[in-house]
Amino acid sequence: MSVDKGGKIRCSFCERDKQDTAVLIASANGLIHICDQCAEQAHYIIKEELSAQTPNTKNPNQNFGAMQVQKPMEVKKFLDQYVIGQDEAKKVLAVAVYNHYKRLQTRPMKRYDDVEIEKSNIIMVGETGTGKTLLARTIARMLNVPFAIADATVLTEAGYVGEDVESVLSRLLMNADFDVPAAERGIVFIDEIDKISRKSDNPSITRDVSGEGVQQGLLKLLEGSIVNVPPQGGRKHPEQKLLSVNTKNILFICGGAFDGIDKKIGKRLNTHAVGFKTDKGAETIDKANMLKYINAQDLKAYGLIPELIGRLPVITYLNPLDTLTLRRILTEPKNSLLKQYEELFRIDGIELSVEDAVLDFMVEKAIEYKLGARGLRSICEAIFLDAMYELPSDSTARSVEITLDYAKEKFGQSSLAKLKAA
Ligand code: ADP
Repeated sequence: MSVDKGGKIRCSFCERDKQDTAVLIASANGLIHICDQCAEQAHYIIKEELSAQTPNTKNPNQNFGAMQVQKPMEVKKFLDQYVIGQDEAKKVLAVAVYNHYKRLQTRPMKRYDDVEIEKSNIIMVGETGTGKTLLARTIARMLNVPFAIADATVLTEAGYVGEDVESVLSRLLMNADFDVPAAERGIVFIDEIDKISRKSDNPSITRDVSGEGVQQGLLKLLEGSIVNVPPQGGRKHPEQKLLSVNTKNILFICGGAFDGIDKKIGKRLNTHAVGFKTDKGAETIDKANMLKYINAQDLKAYGLIPELIGRLPVITYLNPLDTLTLRRILTEPKNSLLKQYEELFRIDGIELSVEDAVLDFMVEKAIEYKLGARGLRSICEAIFLDAMYELPSDSTARSVEITLDYAKEKFGQSSLAKLKAA
């Protein structure tokens, strides 16, 4: 009975007083009550139980059961369909991912072997918008494993305002539809890892809770351990039942821009060989793209702690996007921007054609306004907006051609162009 002697209405489950709850739901006969927090918790328990009995019953389309591990060359070929350029990163990723999942698949047979293959967590260094997230996401899609993106900047050391590192796994669990075994072989992309660099070289008197503290917290996730994860993330639901997730086979891919790291690389290379030569000898250094020489030492100099670097053994880099790459990004990927707009018009029975000069103009503007690949989308929106607004209502419209003059006019009227004028 949820009304006590004093006449107070309480939750029948946690016995919380009505005034301490946000919502208290009564049963049909009014004898039993459940508060918002218990109801939410019950919801998750049910979901978890159901998924343990019949995984993914709720979401048959997202069956993570059959993982498709491909050979490195096939992985690269798959990536080529979605990501333009970045060949070096693709190659490194393809091998790392292949080895990681090969180890996972052969484990039952090799259980008694002495050789234990360690996992190959990856760190990708490259300017923002060069395709780091896209690469990680595409790999997860190819392997048919759950994928989650986490932002390192919102994480703080346990006990401080911000998210605990475990929240990274909450997101993965959610995306796996709470199928724990599926989540345990998923991929987590931790973005902006450079933003949790140690604030200074000297261990300081004040705690570095969003820098080194977070790096320390991430160690246990990256190396593989059993972590108790709040399924809903955060600390807002302290009574939620924790799920145990083993991170041993979760592949962590970290990404960051590491602004200014090129100077540290340059400094290291300079001290190694006079006259800007690489260790290999005659090869001269490509000063325009120092990232290609990055190694663990540079990450340490930037402020990642050695223990973290040790758990991210695969290091690779992404090239800045040049004019040619941006131009290819517009049309070549399987779901390129242009193909998406063509499809949008096609659904209304309208054939879209775009002059080549318009594509060049878009790239030119993306570079001029320093918008990168992400900006191409806003530029397309600015140019196609009026056509997308007007044509669906025009029953006679069968085709539309975007000419350079039209594109220039529409872009000139857009808020993007005004941005520059301001
Ligand atoms: P990052 O994680 O490096 O900041 P993203 O992977 O999120 O960058 O890239 C932003 C968007 O730019 C992607 O969604 C994609 O549309 C486009 N893009 C960036 N680089 C590439 C590339 N190399 N090939 C194809 N598209 C790209």
